[in-house]
Amino acid sequence: MVIKLKSRAKINLSIDVVGKREDGYHLVEMIMQSIDLYDNIQIEEIKEDKIIIQSENKNVPLDESNIMYKAASLVKQKFNIKTGVKINLHKNIPVAAGMAGGSSNGAAVLVGLNNIWNLNLREDELMDLGLSLGADVPFCIMGGAALAQGIGEKLTKIKGLKDTHILICKPNIFVSTKDVYTNLDMSKVRKRPDTQMLLDYINKEDIKGLCTNMENVLESVTEKKYPVISEIKNKMIKYKALGSMMSGSGPTVFGIFDDYEKGQYAKENLKLIHEETYLVKPYGGGIEIER
Ligand code: ATP
Repeated sequence: MVIKLKSRAKINLSIDVVGKREDGYHLVEMIMQSIDLYDNIQIEEIKEDKIIIQSENKNVPLDESNIMYKAASLVKQKFNIKTGVKINLHKNIPVAAGMAGGSSNGAAVLVGLNNIWNLNLREDELMDLGLSLGADVPFCIMGGAALAQGIGEKLTKIKGLKDTHILICKPNIFVSTKDVYTNLDMSKVRKRPDTQMLLDYINKEDIKGLCTNMENVLESVTEKKYPVISEIKNKMIKYKALGSMMSGSGPTVFGIFDDYEKGQYAKENLKLIHEETYLVKPYGGGIEIER
């Protein structure tokens, strides 16, 4: 059996750090939004008891460190499955970008294998399984828009964005999520998001209110090290984005436009400098099985 899936990326409309767990994990409050930028994944069942990962993208590991390998291995062990899978990944989501590309790929493999091996797991059961692979995996399974709390795993579905255009721009630099959190000093963060107020704006479909008030506490850490983040944000605003911010721990910057033409103009200009620039729509779902 062969199954094809669309594995979607996310952006964060806000990130706040509200504490630290005893094990060192940061406790967060984030507004997550799926976007219609996706990787294509094909999973094929094979007779041998093996997990084979293939991808034409040079930045994606093909060994056991690939989150898709970990997801398949987890399912095989848990359900004592003795056949294997060949997984092919076509990457469109920039790698190590703050858009949960890897987490989404892991989520897609869980959803795909649930289908291939007739495991009949409900979405919440898949999400529980996904949490052991990474804090963002449960959200990637559910998709749409959500308030994420805890270490990112406590999810409350929210309405999400609809009629907007989101410009994604990833500069060609490498940012380590771990380093960003290590260098975060909350006493030095000047502005924190008012998460409840942002949720109210989203609920009222007041996109201007959202865009002028969104904050990501990780932004100042990455921005300090890489001025290109502020440069892209300033350009997005110059090109008439309603608001612009860094996603996750970066380095991806996004801008929200209410007008397609303005978004397209900004894309054409930013793409001259930053190859990985995309104009996309918000997306209301999670992993999609292609029929
Ligand atoms: P997050 O927002 O969840 O932190 P990210 O978008 O910042 O994710 P990823 O694209 O998931 O970052 O990549 C982080 C690292 O994970 C990469 O440097 C890569 O070596 C490794 N990795 C493992 N599996 C994958 C995968 N399927 N796709 C991309 N990277 C992967």
